[in-house]
Amino acid sequence: MSGWGWGRYVPVAERRAKARKKMEKLRKQGHAIQPVEISGRTIARSFWGKGWCDHLESFSDYANRLPRGRTYVRNGSVCHLEIEPGRIKAMVSGSRLYNVEIGIKTLAPAAWKRIKDKCSGEIGSILELLRGQLSDRVMEIVSDRENGLFPLPNEITLKCDCPDWAVMCKHVSAVLYGIGSRLDTEPELLFLLRDQDPAELIASEVSFPVAEGTAPEEVLSDDDLSSIFGIELDQEPETPTPAKKRNASQKAASAGKKSKKKKTTVFTPSGKNIARLRKKTGLSAASFAEQIGVNPASVYRWEKSTGNLKLHSRTLAALTRIEASIGKE
Ligand SMILES: [Zn+2]
Repeated sequence: MSGWGWGRYVPVAERRAKARKKMEKLRKQGHAIQPVEISGRTIARSFWGKGWCDHLESFSDYANRLPRGRTYVRNGSVCHLEIEPGRIKAMVSGSRLYNVEIGIKTLAPAAWKRIKDKCSGEIGSILELLRGQLSDRVMEIVSDRENGLFPLPNEITLKCDCPDWAVMCKHVSAVLYGIGSRLDTEPELLFLLRDQDPAELIASEVSFPVAEGTAPEEVLSDDDLSSIFGIELDQEPETPTPAKKRNASQKAASAGKKSKKKKTTVFTPSGKNIARLRKKTGLSAASFAEQIGVNPASVYRWEKSTGNLKLHSRTLAALTRIEASIGKE
């Protein structure tokens, strides 16, 4: 018996251990690994997360096939899930590690404009929007089955490299649920996925200037975001930061803070500075994120935050490098 024949049953513990090892290896290579971790049975509970799952389950093709992914996503088989404009890339642990790629059409400008027009003057702040604290009318608009923010089945393409790939295997199903779970903690990723800026939905002049200028008053602070969504703004909360690195990054961050007015060698990591730097490079959030080795959502989130950010030393080093290469003002 070879032990590796097709269909060999691999105990859950064994394949989990294998997957963990592989993930650790990827992490060491500098990939920002983002597992889907669900505690309890509820996959998603927020307006956006639950909205995503309910929306997909409302289509019969999906309703029939999605359930097979539920156990998978709950037991932590989705080892990695990253969302970028128009695409979700994920790794799911099965008999081996499978690569899943889901394409989602970005929202057409005309469709986005229709949503904006309908919501005009009705959403008070980005906080309310992301928290899902919306009037019934706005909720109906953004989660409209045909014309809302969630994609239609014909805007979705599914791919998995497992041997029993048909239309929707359990790996793909698990990832689709994983997206819902991710939206619970990072609802802004839905907008990133559809490639539209949520700030454009906000009623007043309150928005997030990307260019230098006065800081907007209603921008979420790190504390706000952390307490509301339970996320750590120093990125990759699932990656334990070695004490040495953390110290280095804190030192670097405080060094940058102290000598803010002076010309420093270390990049001062604030949302404003990151937005300014990215603007200078002319890169999209996704490309910029790739340059500094983080996921686009982090860049997106940082740019919306106020105050100095605590970043990994390697991220800070990458930002410093970019700043040095394009020259300071
Ligand atoms: Zn599969």
